[in-house]
Amino acid sequence: MSAPLYIKVKEQDNVAIAVHDIAAGVEVMPGVITRQDIPQAHKIALTHIPRGGEIVRYGVVLGYARDDIPVGSWINEHMLDLPQTPGLDDMPFGTSIVPPEALPDPTRKTWMGYRNKTGPAGTRNLLGIVTTVQCAAGVLNVAVERIRRELLPGYPNVEGVVAVTHPYGCGVAIKAREAHIPIRAVTNLIRHPNFGGEVMVVGLGCEKLTYDMVLPPEDITPENTLTLQDYPGHDAMMEAILAMADKKLQSLNRRVREELPLSELLIGMQCGGSDAFSGLTANPSAGYAADMLVKGGATVLFSEVTEVRDGVHLLAARCRDEAARDKLAAEMRWYDQYLEAGGVDRDANPTPGNKKGGLANIVEKAMGSIAKSGMAPIEEVLSPAERPTRHGLIYAATPASDIVCGPSQLASGIGLQVFMTGRGTPYGLAAAPVIKVCSRNEMKEHWFDMIDVNAGPVATGEKTIAQVGTELFELILDVASGVKQPYSDQYGFHNDLCIFNPAPIT
Ligand code: CA
Repeated sequence: MSAPLYIKVKEQDNVAIAVHDIAAGVEVMPGVITRQDIPQAHKIALTHIPRGGEIVRYGVVLGYARDDIPVGSWINEHMLDLPQTPGLDDMPFGTSIVPPEALPDPTRKTWMGYRNKTGPAGTRNLLGIVTTVQCAAGVLNVAVERIRRELLPGYPNVEGVVAVTHPYGCGVAIKAREAHIPIRAVTNLIRHPNFGGEVMVVGLGCEKLTYDMVLPPEDITPENTLTLQDYPGHDAMMEAILAMADKKLQSLNRRVREELPLSELLIGMQCGGSDAFSGLTANPSAGYAADMLVKGGATVLFSEVTEVRDGVHLLAARCRDEAARDKLAAEMRWYDQYLEAGGVDRDANPTPGNKKGGLANIVEKAMGSIAKSGMAPIEEVLSPAERPTRHGLIYAATPASDIVCGPSQLASGIGLQVFMTGRGTPYGLAAAPVIKVCSRNEMKEHWFDMIDVNAGPVATGEKTIAQVGTELFELILDVASGVKQPYSDQYGFHNDLCIFNPAPIT
């Protein structure tokens, strides 16, 4: 089949997206001749849009024309004004609940994971060593290198050692109203499903974040916690850390993978470096895979508050109950105020790269971003770094920043993250594998050995969303089962854990 020149999403849309760069003077459809060169992924006006007129994509108003836009024009981010943010009061809920039979059937019902005593199973068997404070990170990083080199080869069932370091712990207002968010993140990271319930926490000794804030009393023991200031110098410190790690590795080495139902799997989704294709190819394919997982009983988180804010009414309609709707509204309200305190609004989100990729504003970015949630009902809404209590599709409120959403979802317990990108990012996490899905064929050709799944063929008509979604579903289960490794893990491309701290730093 011949590749289309443009993609129009909904019948009522008055703009379309250029599949490739289109020169000026090309008739893209009867009566629509490009007036300028249109860059790939950017918008073409399909009708004359008068000044103040609506610019419609995905069937929603992206904004209002600042001036007359003749048919065939390139519409860039400077040509439209943002519409009002949707209100949060009394949003109807439960009005758009699809029945289970409407969701695509999973092609597999089981996977191979590490069962935990409570909560979701692990996708990896890792020794996770968590710091209470950044001051301990330098020592821990050196110790972890030695553990990998000197101890790990003796424990063939353990797949790695992770230093869970972060910027929190001291120099912070630990009693501030919002301090519970980073404290909850550290608490829940200690219990990450991939760490198998083995607790190993390294502190400095004088920090504000003390063991009792992140561990129950029964876990604060010499077997689980190690305070650097208690040791006389480098050698004693290293010896103590390695001795503690050795005991934990002995326990972890007894873990084996077993066949588990999908209900034992918890994964997260986010996007980063998005372009105008993300919402057409990569995110809808991820949404299809999410629907397959949910139908099979798995739990899938999606996040990124500023990227759903303009479609919040669409999410409320998919909320299973009033409690989920109320918490959704509360999380959005909290974030509106958080942004306002910084003197910005949600349109501070799109990056220069997003705009170069054809995304005019946050409304357009949001409509594409929400597509990753598929169509399943939303069973629960989480505050940042909270653990889910239900299965199915869950909205976990986090910042959209890739490197902040990542640790927030990790703290929520994800065993794997699916990451959609248009512009390309090498992002990865040490504690859980990250599968990279790109939105365009050109991205896959450019980063052929860094992108795991290419959703670009959806735009050129070579594959359907169902085909790419099924391919992604299979890869998710293979990676979760340890059968395959995504590129980010093959290369060890792992980002720092920038846990979300909305509270003051002192
Ligand atoms: Ca993101």
